[in-house]
Amino acid sequence: MGFGHDVQLSIDIGRGREITKSEALDVLGKNQEDGLILQASNSIKPNYICSCFGCCCGVLGGISSLPRPLDFVHTNYYAEVNSELCVGCGTCQERCQMNAIKLKNEIARVITKRCIGCGNCAAVCPEEAMQLKRKEDEIIPPPDSEELYNEILKRKQKIKGG
Ligand code: SF4
Ligand code: SF4
Repeated sequence: MGFGHDVQLSIDIGRGREITKSEALDVLGKNQEDGLILQASNSIKPNYICSCFGCCCGVLGGISSLPRPLDFVHTNYYAEVNSELCVGCGTCQERCQMNAIKLKNEIARVITKRCIGCGNCAAVCPEEAMQLKRKEDEIIPPPDSEELYNEILKRKQKIKGG
């Protein structure tokens, strides 16, 4: 799903259509219901949101195969279990594309280094035992994609310059 003037070309050539904010929210809600991970571009004003599954998304599939997926993702959230409420049903574990949830003594546990804070687990927990929490040290992304790419370019030049 794209936003702003970047997507006008897709509409002009018939590969996309304009939708209302309410339809967009419905689509994103349905995608999350289906277990897809919603990923916005890395800026305060994103120019797209991908809805992905690790089996066909190279990015998600790639990071989920690594020992520490969190090292490759900017996220301000993490999942946490309230062990008093957890009944060990395993629904969250089935949904987690990062294999970040294990059941121990019939209580879900989140492996922090694997959790990318997508919220897929919390969205389906029948007991509301799994919650998405905001990190204390927030990462503030660049305001828009132009600033994002300027930042990437600056960092590359710095590395190249030694
Ligand atoms: S879905 Fe909720 S109740 Fe079920 S195992 Fe996960 S945290 Fe526990
Ligand atoms: S938020 Fe939940 S589903 Fe997403 S990576 Fe973390 S544990 Fe897995």
